[in-house]
Amino acid sequence: MCRHLAYLGAPRSPVWPVFEAPHSLLVQSYAPRDMRYGGTVNADGFGLAWFADHGKPVRHRRASPLWTDETLPRLAETVSAGTFVAAVRSATTGMPVADGACAPFADEHWLFSHNGVVRGWPDSVAGLAEKLPVTELLRMEAATDSALLWTLLRHRLREGTDPAGAVAGLVADVARAAPGSRLNLLLAGPDLVIATAWTHALSVLVTDEGVLIASEPLDDDPRWSPVPDQHLVLARRGQPPAVEAVEAIALHTDRSHP
Ligand code: GLN
Repeated sequence: MCRHLAYLGAPRSPVWPVFEAPHSLLVQSYAPRDMRYGGTVNADGFGLAWFADHGKPVRHRRASPLWTDETLPRLAETVSAGTFVAAVRSATTGMPVADGACAPFADEHWLFSHNGVVRGWPDSVAGLAEKLPVTELLRMEAATDSALLWTLLRHRLREGTDPAGAVAGLVADVARAAPGSRLNLLLAGPDLVIATAWTHALSVLVTDEGVLIASEPLDDDPRWSPVPDQHLVLARRGQPPAVEAVEAIALHTDRSHP
């Protein structure tokens, strides 16, 4: 299963979490510790995106192993961002290896990543997909489960659903339609990061500088804490940025989308 991470806090470079940490995303691309039998390496692509000073995301992604990219280490050194998301991909069997399938997915306001798999793809989620406007389906960046999750979530956000409600509702709806799915989702805006642990690993590190959320802890700092399964983490920008909520995702609450 893919690995991902997000940061929210005082502006910093993504170089340490992505490349320099003892168990950086780069290390997790070739030697992940906790794949739960969902593949062995994350070599089918990578992406890094951040919110730039103009408030919009900037992204670099490629369908190749992170360790082969000469551009990103130097590029990341020059970045200082208060929010960023990075991911490495292990393509689910049968899904295309293409730039458009690599997280983070992005629009003008949000960054998104999915670590996991939708069981029974695509039949199991056809009922959810058919409620989307046809043009949104036609514009899907890749024929993958993750791209559909992004399209569904973006649609709900644009309809005005609050971000935490939209993420929890999507997990609940997909888990109902496709039982056994792995749905670690990550949604980041300039001042907010939401992440779910749904049958996959996720850890959080809160420091005075900011909040790091990652599939696997990036070092042996004892402050890393695992997120319990079937829970949602919400980190909001404040003074200092803080994890505001770690709460269970309910399958049958009013949060689920009508
Ligand atoms: N199923 C998704 C894909 O193929 C995510 C893969 C993963 O988490 N390993 O892109």
